[in-house]
Amino acid sequence: MEVEAILAGLIPSWSSVVLLSCYLGYLAVAGSVLPGKIVPGALLSDGSRLHYRCNGLASLLLLVALLEIGIYMKLMSAMVIADKGLELLSVTFIFSLFVSLVLYAAGLKSRSQSSSLKPHVTGDFIHDWWFGVQLNPHFLGIDLKFFFVRAGMMGWLLINLSLLAKNCEAGTANLSVILYQLFCTLYVLDYFFYEEFMTSTWDIIAEKLGFMLVFGDLVFIPFTFMPLFIEPFQGWWLLKNKVELTKAAAVANCLVFLVGYRVFRGANKQKHIFKKDPKAPLWGKPPKVIGGKLLASGYWGIARHCNYLGDLLLALSFSLPCGISSAIPYFYPTYLLILLIWRERRDEARCSQKYKEIWAEYCQLVPWRILPYVY
Ligand code: NDP
Repeated sequence: MEVEAILAGLIPSWSSVVLLSCYLGYLAVAGSVLPGKIVPGALLSDGSRLHYRCNGLASLLLLVALLEIGIYMKLMSAMVIADKGLELLSVTFIFSLFVSLVLYAAGLKSRSQSSSLKPHVTGDFIHDWWFGVQLNPHFLGIDLKFFFVRAGMMGWLLINLSLLAKNCEAGTANLSVILYQLFCTLYVLDYFFYEEFMTSTWDIIAEKLGFMLVFGDLVFIPFTFMPLFIEPFQGWWLLKNKVELTKAAAVANCLVFLVGYRVFRGANKQKHIFKKDPKAPLWGKPPKVIGGKLLASGYWGIARHCNYLGDLLLALSFSLPCGISSAIPYFYPTYLLILLIWRERRDEARCSQKYKEIWAEYCQLVPWRILPYVY
């Protein structure tokens, strides 16, 4: 696509604003009224806990059903999201910017001393706006951190489905398109199936809500990072570039996905189970525990962030359907590699401060950070 066409496509329109507002409005209402397991969050430093209603899967399935009815009744087109892709990208980006500034201003005004709402202000505007000033800001009773990640993951699937409709219309839905769509759909469905595991992740327990998270959730997850280059988003790239995968390449691609999934889900699940019941067996054996607090067996005995390794393999499996003729579709796994290495360093610093000598003991026992024998 020509640069001028991309720039023209990025100009926000009111119809995209309406689309985004309806989407977020639906999620707010569905998240508040649909039934779902109420999961207690991590214990905060003031002894309180948030509770999360994990009804993301119900919200997603109902939304897909409603959209299907709308498409069937010819009230809307299945391709509306793909057609408005760039506009939606810029509208969502502007929305993230706006929300992060409101969060910053609201955080500065807060007089609350609770762990969730106490403002952590350094005085450096860029730092405070980027990282956020409050741990768990709420709006109309909705936990915004949990809400935004849900919106991003669901938005990713909806964009993909709309692109698939476009692929089908253009007659370009070949094996690579199907593999890409299949892997991403399974990843998103799995996320919502195990949504409660999200409540013990770094983002939820440790990260304040600022531009970095809002942008990451709402813009990066569904649209990927670079607004001017739509090619890095594999779905769009496959729309423009026909890739014929060999059978061997397709099988290898499936293997990368399956291994990545097993490691990613297995590691996150083990940690989540361990936090609930530190005595629960792992792989049929009692867990190895350091200082009563750190899990040092299962995936957590192989590398200190095996879950990142699984996620990286999954990211790679989303790009492999694009073949190896261009590096452009590998933007996402490359970006994720940098992000997770940075995150691992920050988590390491946090854990080392929190757990002190037992963290040092864990590092001695499990020397690998992400990839055994390499890093
Ligand atoms: P983790 O789920 O690994 O959470 C880190 C926290 O877990 C630590 O701060 C510590 O918290 C606890 N912990 C660490 N080691 C141990 C241990 N051995 N035993 C017990 N508890 C331990 O990190 P993330 O939240 O960053 O990642 C969660 C998932 O989300 C990962 O799979 C990651 O790949 C994925 N992710 C994906 C992104 C994407 O864009 N696709 C971006 C970021 C993450 P505590 O204080 O509770 O003990």
